[in-house]
Amino acid sequence: MRRTLSAIILMLGISLGISNPARGQSEMQIAQPQVMYTFGESLTIETEITSELPIQDVKILLQPAAGIRQIAGEATLTAPGLVSYTLDLSNNFLGLFADVTYEFQVTLESGETLTSPEYSFYFEDNRWEWQSLKSDEFEIYWYKGNTDFGEKILNTAHDGLERIRLQVDVPAPEALRYYVYASSQELQSALQLSGEAGSQIAGHADPALNKVMVSLAPGPAETLEMKRQVPHELLHVLLYQKLGVGYARLPRWLNEGLASTAELFPNPDYPLLLDKAYERQALLPFASLCQSFPVDAANFQLAYAQASSITWYLQGRFGTSGTEALLAAYADGLDCEHGAETALGQGLSALELDWRSITFHENPWLTSLRGVLPWLLIFTLFLLPWMILNIVDAIKRRKSVQENPASV
Ligand SMILES: [Zn+2]
Repeated sequence: MRRTLSAIILMLGISLGISNPARGQSEMQIAQPQVMYTFGESLTIETEITSELPIQDVKILLQPAAGIRQIAGEATLTAPGLVSYTLDLSNNFLGLFADVTYEFQVTLESGETLTSPEYSFYFEDNRWEWQSLKSDEFEIYWYKGNTDFGEKILNTAHDGLERIRLQVDVPAPEALRYYVYASSQELQSALQLSGEAGSQIAGHADPALNKVMVSLAPGPAETLEMKRQVPHELLHVLLYQKLGVGYARLPRWLNEGLASTAELFPNPDYPLLLDKAYERQALLPFASLCQSFPVDAANFQLAYAQASSITWYLQGRFGTSGTEALLAAYADGLDCEHGAETALGQGLSALELDWRSITFHENPWLTSLRGVLPWLLIFTLFLLPWMILNIVDAIKRRKSVQENPASV
């Protein structure tokens, strides 16, 4: 259950002396644990355990959101039966905006080990006071800006959904959560404190947890950024819901390309970035954008610009049926080159040449030739004269043999 609470205490379970029979031969009673934390700093869980036999030690097993390692720790007995456990959150990660489950393992002095029932709490970035607004499809959480700001984000999410549905057949979102940070630095700090890398990131989708994190500051530029980030991250989540495990097999250029074309306000820097890279002959081969994007800032942006541009091109040429075929082929596990060939009748490398010729008004034959040009040069400068000399020499020797057969 999600809720917005004070900056310090997330969940104050009241110690009611609830009896929880544990799995084991002996019986123990555990009071409803109290969970207190400040995101990025520390977490404390306290409870009271009573049992017929004296307690020797208490361990706690914390299971963060999917994909993060379980944390096992030793609780301290502050008085007979009073259990306290503290975890440093600056170097132990519990995920973010997700449920954390935990249980106690109690060892009695008799040597017997008892396991408590499983408890859970919702782990959020409680450094901020979150406001919220909801529709059937979306939940918007933000901490800076008034209600109008939240409403604007909610409306943009609905507009983005309409736009995406024109491009891809996607399922309807259900209570998809948007957490809106007021700056990319604050978003990156949250990602880093939750154990995820956050550099160069303005928005972040966590499709498996049905949540999105974006960075939008209320102010003059809010509309443009909102129209970019909100639909972009929505596309990632909906593609995941559409494709399931096949989502992870999508080439990065297609996943990011579709997200870019879903934006309600396209990035105005992309055309210039593409033209400059083309002039410098620095365009990135699409085969290198299948698994991941470059990490350096300049090429990272260029990769997005190229992904966006080729996706626009493919959508224009092959329509929505082409996009669906491409998604199905890649989700099925076909590689970058052959997925395109199966879906669109042309491999990725051939599509790349077509895209270049249309986007940069380039002759595809010259582009193909550019690839073999260094070899052609080596052949012309070194191999060709050597071959000519050899041929001339052979002709001379043959003539000499014909004129002076006895000399052989
Ligand atoms: Zn993206």
